[in-house]
Amino acid sequence: MSASAKTQPVSALRRVATALSQWIDSDYCPDGAEKMRAEPDRVDWVRVMPFVFLHTGCLAAFWVGVSPVAIWTAVALYFIRMFFVTGIHHRYFSHKTYSTSRFGQFILALCAGTTVQRGSLWWAYHHRHHHLHSDEADDAHSPHVHGFWWSQIGWITSRRNFPTDYTKIKDLAKFPELVWLNRFDLVVPVAFALSLFGAGWLLELYAPSLGTTGGQLLVWGFFISTTVLFHGTGCINSMAHLMGKRRFKTDDDSRNSAILAFITLGEGWHNNHHRFQSCTRNGFYWWEIDPTYYGLKLLSYTGFIWGLKPVPQSVLDEGTRAEHASSIAAAERAALVHPEFSSLKKVVPAAAAFAVATAAAAQATVPKKADGPAIHRDMTEETHNMTKTNPPPTAPGA
Ligand SMILES: [Zn+2]
Ligand SMILES: [Zn+2]
Repeated sequence: MSASAKTQPVSALRRVATALSQWIDSDYCPDGAEKMRAEPDRVDWVRVMPFVFLHTGCLAAFWVGVSPVAIWTAVALYFIRMFFVTGIHHRYFSHKTYSTSRFGQFILALCAGTTVQRGSLWWAYHHRHHHLHSDEADDAHSPHVHGFWWSQIGWITSRRNFPTDYTKIKDLAKFPELVWLNRFDLVVPVAFALSLFGAGWLLELYAPSLGTTGGQLLVWGFFISTTVLFHGTGCINSMAHLMGKRRFKTDDDSRNSAILAFITLGEGWHNNHHRFQSCTRNGFYWWEIDPTYYGLKLLSYTGFIWGLKPVPQSVLDEGTRAEHASSIAAAERAALVHPEFSSLKKVVPAAAAFAVATAAAAQATVPKKADGPAIHRDMTEETHNMTKTNPPPTAPGA
């Protein structure tokens, strides 16, 4: 037997032992996180066993049965924790679109931990990377580069995507309590699952008429609700770059979709978000329903969070002009296809002239100036050396 043949089982065993250790300590990388991140994409089946268990655990519904309480718990926990995903993982830790105290930030990280989407720092690191490399080869979850299923679920099982690069999230990595929660990212989910089981067990004891059990709340409230939550969130990585309209000409294929916005409490306005990621809203206009923003606005009245960042007027104006131009183009296409719209043809040139005049007036009255300190320069751009070139500050890019 050659020396390399002897070392193969040893290295395979070492790989399994490493993956098992990472179940507990997700920062455990004996060969270095940098080396791991440089590997080609490959599913680490041992490492992802907890994730597989989350999915297969749903089948236990056949064993524990169902009750109205169990179903409503699953539905409520889906929407509450979707708010945690979008309002905390995304709009706080990834983009810092509002402020809170250090203690408040810790509470936010605890809440976000119940979503079982790994730690907030891992989430923020990957999400900021997505914005830097959207739909490019380096994007971990672009449906255009890797296909639908890889962007929906595959990328999270890839060995190279497990380590958190703390150097890219220095603004968050300076808080040891956040790093601890990120490192031991199973602690909150396990505590949450046990709490659900305990709640169901108490209901079984003290309110038997409800017909629920500890097993039911565990399976429906944790396994099923969390699995659906994962795939609802995953839709943004996959579908939001495939389905819907593009209001802004961003240098990726992000899209706006009301259906995805419903599933994800407002994240479906993804093209808006890629255009300007530093504001708290993803729905830029009143008709773009954004429940996450409404929830954060309500929370801000309590004083727990503050400093919600608005959409800059220049971006809103740009969006209005883009809508105007696309509706004119659509009317022109309709007139070509349907001659009965000939009267519309007479109106279109006037409307086009009006649009051009509006655009020119807006550019003339809004002086171009250097990036301001507040809304145009967000934490994301500050903290990880954005390499993409953005449009000028009157039309800032994200
Ligand atoms: Zn995106
Ligand atoms: Zn984002």
